[in-house]
Amino acid sequence: MIGPRKPKPHIDGFVFDLDGTVYLGDHALPGSVAGITQLREMGKQTLFVSNKPLEPREVYAAKLTRLGIPTDPEQVITSAHVLGRYLARTEPHLRLYVVGEANLIAELRRHGLTVVEELEDQDPKQVIIPHDIDAVVVAFDRTLDYRKLNTAYQALLGGARFFATNGDKMCPMPGGGIPDAGATIAALEHITGRRVELLAGKPSSLILQEAMDLLRLTPDRCMMVGDRLETDMRMGQQAGMITAVVLTGASGREDVARMTPPLDFVIESLSELPALIA
Ligand SMILES: [Mg+2]
Repeated sequence: MIGPRKPKPHIDGFVFDLDGTVYLGDHALPGSVAGITQLREMGKQTLFVSNKPLEPREVYAAKLTRLGIPTDPEQVITSAHVLGRYLARTEPHLRLYVVGEANLIAELRRHGLTVVEELEDQDPKQVIIPHDIDAVVVAFDRTLDYRKLNTAYQALLGGARFFATNGDKMCPMPGGGIPDAGATIAALEHITGRRVELLAGKPSSLILQEAMDLLRLTPDRCMMVGDRLETDMRMGQQAGMITAVVLTGASGREDVARMTPPLDFVIESLSELPALIA
């Protein structure tokens, strides 16, 4: 006997994770182009979120467009963009020291924020308390070196605020992964005894608040679609959104079955999304 059917939720906006959800590497995942195209034809809004602070939003938009999902930069939210917007709104006066790459520095400056210049001739072995630093921003940084670590350490000991774009321990790569921002955050937390105050990216709710602002929707009218339970799905649940996990990435059915509270939907492909909603 078939039990009573769950009513279909009324969803006006979809927030998609990218890697493992929409594409994997340089290829769209099966069903993702068709699913997103159909949702748009139904008049639904679509937004894409990435924790990576390495590229501007234009790059992600261009990649999605190339894969068959025409996207404007305004439809992409990165952890760097969210942090820039948040700090510009709440702490615009802070002088920031960035343990990160060029894109993040440019993004923060685009938001009118002050990024302290690197002192190239400063002896990395010296103890110099940098008095012109009000906050340290840690990010995925493949140019991390001892001088940056020492400057951040000294600034944090001197009382600087402690922010980060994202907390991912490692960044998946073909053949494995490489250390991400979480590695640097852990090092600085370990040596200073302090805890990072703010993560802009997933699983922090900040990135979804930004998404809802852009969509101009309340959480119950939004669906979070992603492949990771402890970031994408947990964050969606905490924000009060409808959640759908897609099994094309990091999570399998057994992982999903263990999740409490349970997710709203489990799908094999994004092409199933249009049928789930009213
Ligand atoms: Mg993912």
